[in-house]
Amino acid sequence: MAAALLEKPIEYLKGVGPNRGTLLRSELGIDTCKDLLYHFPNRYVDRTRFYSIAELPKVQADVQIIGRITDIRLINQAKGKRLVASFQDSTGEIELVWFRGYQWIQKQLQTNVRYIAFGRLLWYGSRCSIAHPELEEETPDATIKSAVFQPVYASTEKLINRSITNRTMRQIMQHLFDELHLGVRETLSDNIRNDHGLIGATEALAAIHFPKDLGQLEKAQKRLRFEELFFIQLQLLQKKLDHRKQFKGHLFDKVGDFFNRFYNNHLPFSLTDAQKRVIKEIRSDFGSGAQMNRLLQGDVGSGKTIVAFLSALIALDNQMQATIVAPTEILAQQHYQTLSQLAAPLGLTIKLLTGATKTAERKEIHTQLQSGELQLLVGTHAILEPNVHFQNLGFAIIDEQHRFGVAQRAKLWKKNQIPPHILVMTATPIPRTLAMTLYGDLESSIIDELPPGRKPITTAQRTDRNRLAVNQFMKSEIEKGRQVYIVYPLIEESSTMDYKDLMDGFESISRDFPQPDYQVSILHGRMKSEDKAFEMERFSSGKTQIMVATTVIEVGVDIPNPSVMVIESAERFGLSQLHQLRGRIGRGADKSYCILMTGVKLSNDAKTRIQAMVRTQDGFELAEVDLKLRGPGDLMGTQQSGILQMRIANLSRDAQVILQVRNVAIDLLADDPTLAKAKNKPIADTLRMLQAGKGIWKYIS
Ligand code: ADP
Ligand code: MG
Repeated sequence: MAAALLEKPIEYLKGVGPNRGTLLRSELGIDTCKDLLYHFPNRYVDRTRFYSIAELPKVQADVQIIGRITDIRLINQAKGKRLVASFQDSTGEIELVWFRGYQWIQKQLQTNVRYIAFGRLLWYGSRCSIAHPELEEETPDATIKSAVFQPVYASTEKLINRSITNRTMRQIMQHLFDELHLGVRETLSDNIRNDHGLIGATEALAAIHFPKDLGQLEKAQKRLRFEELFFIQLQLLQKKLDHRKQFKGHLFDKVGDFFNRFYNNHLPFSLTDAQKRVIKEIRSDFGSGAQMNRLLQGDVGSGKTIVAFLSALIALDNQMQATIVAPTEILAQQHYQTLSQLAAPLGLTIKLLTGATKTAERKEIHTQLQSGELQLLVGTHAILEPNVHFQNLGFAIIDEQHRFGVAQRAKLWKKNQIPPHILVMTATPIPRTLAMTLYGDLESSIIDELPPGRKPITTAQRTDRNRLAVNQFMKSEIEKGRQVYIVYPLIEESSTMDYKDLMDGFESISRDFPQPDYQVSILHGRMKSEDKAFEMERFSSGKTQIMVATTVIEVGVDIPNPSVMVIESAERFGLSQLHQLRGRIGRGADKSYCILMTGVKLSNDAKTRIQAMVRTQDGFELAEVDLKLRGPGDLMGTQQSGILQMRIANLSRDAQVILQVRNVAIDLLADDPTLAKAKNKPIADTLRMLQAGKGIWKYIS
């Protein structure tokens, strides 16, 4: 009964109809009654409190007042009209204002009745108004009805213009609950609910829309957050299990000549314990007979490349090919250079394939790939193109996965009949909860240790007032033989203003650091490739002491000598960008310094970012700060935001819950892998609905 109602299109519900139905669908994505049920309020206002006008808070707050309308007038303004009503109680007067629908409202308003007015206060000077208030005649019944926590639903301009106000939403929701009197299906098992103190589904849904008090609201939130996160984790874990059952992997049962020769004779440094541990984890996957899907996280400079290379050698030892895919041309080139050097003493065949590869070269690569002569292919997403065929691809590494979508990962799978083992590496750490959600179907490895001998970088914030001292400091470092980066923000490649800042900066640096004592390089995206390469070479060989650049140096630049990084307008950079930039220094034996030049007045968010940079060098900690500031969708880019658009859970706030539900899901699947036990029927049924795309949340695919 109830279930049938929930599947019905939203138009069917009393109080909706075709017009409102169309709007709810286009504006809020509410298609069925079930979607409406899961359209949760995004906040609540406390309507247990009534203010007298004299004691109204002097801020923008939602308030309710009881009073009378003493005067109503229509006022002409530049564009259209506005309706203004004076609203009084025994302590004072405010104005109620309408900009739309005033003809109809004017007819409704009465001057001699007592109203409850509710809305957001707007102050200008000592005068106060509420625009588009909710008005209700003060009857005993109305006072009781408004005397609760009232839900506020997300809305849009268009909905409000078409008179689907928050009040309308509440009414529609009330109709839904009137018809749902039999309740909704429970999605969790009794024992999970009991173990974790969770109220039932029906009770929770009622209370999330119409809470009687704060206590009840909190119980509802707890239950629904648990449910949402639990089913995400359960699906990810199931995917992981299915996957293991379904896909045989290439069995790399020997560590052979390539690996051993390199490891014993050519390793340029001794590995950190963390690097050794991760290589072991990968080796054990290779030897398991199942296809590997592993995420490797490590901070900037933690040494992921050598781990990737050593693992690739194991694939080669088992007569298979390996590939490494990077998100940008610069990064692909850098990998190619690094890996070619590492591979040289082994006599491996290694090639680079990017969008810029010339036709003749490309043809040769294709031929060598198919004959199996080419052992290691480095490149950009050009490798993913369907016309790139390997003879026998056994292992694929994706660097900086978060710039790639899941779809691209899937393309690599198809490069061999038995899909290759996959290692996904992230360039910057991802907060743990985010990793567990986005990559919850992957095994996970972490390099949580930097190579030895790295000196901590001292980071400080400075403003224009300190400019002379900063220049003096740079000079003293240059005198010691060090080099300096000065980075300007280039938020958009096309932004003329940003280029002007960069060029102005370059000129003033050239004045303050005059030739012949100083040589200054410049590097930005508008330069020709060969000019860029020329300037890079001058700087890396020490012919110039200062490199003025945009964020083109953010990735792919690995030079040990520079010890100072000055970041101009640092408040304009995102946290992970600042962290990446700082990662360009501290690569040699010398003490390094990062100077964040900022304005004097900063927004709260900017202050938080700068303070975090000064406080810590730990990429995982910075990632957590970033998640709190920006939210998961922004952090990861839009490509993967689908699963991150949660109804009620929040990856940053609910970290504890995520850890909890993941364990609950692991235990559940260990005890009952196919969810066949009677007690788990509600969970099994819910999962089936989710998989049929009839999700309680339909965005989980
Ligand atoms: P990332 O994890 O950021 O990709 P890289 O693999 O580029 O880091 O390594 C950063 C630098 O550290 C490189 O110059 C690399 O040669 C060096 N490196 C990596 N591992 C070690 C180690 N165990 N000991 C010393 N240096 C190392
Ligand atoms: Mg790297």
